[in-house]
Amino acid sequence: MSVRAFLQDHPKPLVWAWELTLRVLGWVRPVLAQLGLERASWWLRTPEMLIKKPLFDCRECGQCVLHYTGMTCPMTCPKQLRNGPCGGVRADGHCEVYPDRPCVWVQAWERSARTPYRAEMMRLNAPVDWRLEGLSSWVTHTLERDAITTGNDPAVRYADEVLEGRSWN
Ligand code: SF4
Repeated sequence: MSVRAFLQDHPKPLVWAWELTLRVLGWVRPVLAQLGLERASWWLRTPEMLIKKPLFDCRECGQCVLHYTGMTCPMTCPKQLRNGPCGGVRADGHCEVYPDRPCVWVQAWERSARTPYRAEMMRLNAPVDWRLEGLSSWVTHTLERDAITTGNDPAVRYADEVLEGRSWN
């Protein structure tokens, strides 16, 4: 088993690291806002990728949903699905496209049970906003430019309301 798979299969340290990162980003938010989206991303993209590439095989979508997906990057799915698996998952839990690999979403489901974010697996993620590709998701999140923080996506709003037990009328 690779170090990456081991860490993702035992995601508690990754969860702590994410929560610490969120806290630090909150502290430096005024500086990021002063720099603006592009310049702040220029500074933070490299350190973010130095961490996320080896740990998550990050594809630089610029709108991270790792904590909603069991600390498993959905962009590593060959179909880049952000809301669960396709219909082609094999009976052994492997990928339709690459039968030698486990399905990313089967892994995400199993790993999410070992995080505090299990319920968020049921959340509907917004489609990828490709305008954010290549930007630092630390910045897009902190400056509230991703669909998670803008809350502008009706599907996301709906999913949030369902999670909170409210109906959609
Ligand atoms: S969801 Fe996006 S930012 Fe997060 S690890 Fe995957 S590609 Fe990278």
